[in-house]
Amino acid sequence: MPHAAASVNRGFSMPGPHATGAAIKLRGVSPGGITLTKEADMAVERTLSIIKPDATRRNLTGKINAKFEEAGLRIIAQKRIQMTPAQAGTFYAVHKERPFYGELCEFMARAPVVVQVLEGENAIAKNREVMGATNPADAAPGTVRAEFAESVGENSVHGSDAPETAAIEISYFFSGLELVG
Ligand code: GDP
Repeated sequence: MPHAAASVNRGFSMPGPHATGAAIKLRGVSPGGITLTKEADMAVERTLSIIKPDATRRNLTGKINAKFEEAGLRIIAQKRIQMTPAQAGTFYAVHKERPFYGELCEFMARAPVVVQVLEGENAIAKNREVMGATNPADAAPGTVRAEFAESVGENSVHGSDAPETAAIEISYFFSGLELVG
């Protein structure tokens, strides 16, 4: 990616007093979650995380957040919401053709979720490392899914898988003004 420029899309049309190109450059990241490179090999990223209904139901939000923070990920936005099946369906539209899509949408709307934005160096990959493999049976010891997931479907957390999807997923739940790193 090129260096941050004043023309970076901040996700809203009227930049506030701090929305200068210079500020973005210093922070090394855009509010929309697009990766910007500060140095050749150091990228501060933002990623969308969801603590799923199986975990909120069991009061695991704090324990999961502790794992993110211990890994150096900063929670720069967070809210507890209850999605409708339609909202969950739009979020997971990429899986529309998969046999578990209906089950997944029903699950994600069954109880509250905590949506959050995590920021840090290589945050997207780091978060997926902390999460562990999709199927808890395959997840490395110490990962969120190894410790807390109940099944391949009800697996406690979601995390974006690439800079492009992170930007789209963050903007699905948060406005630029809600990201306070
Ligand atoms: P992730 O990126 O590790 O979350 O995995 P995917 O993008 O492949 O799948 C998205 C979500 O769909 C997973 O986190 C699960 O909640 C669900 N999912 C994936 N595979 C299965 C499956 O085989 N059965 C069921 N019921 N749900 C699944």
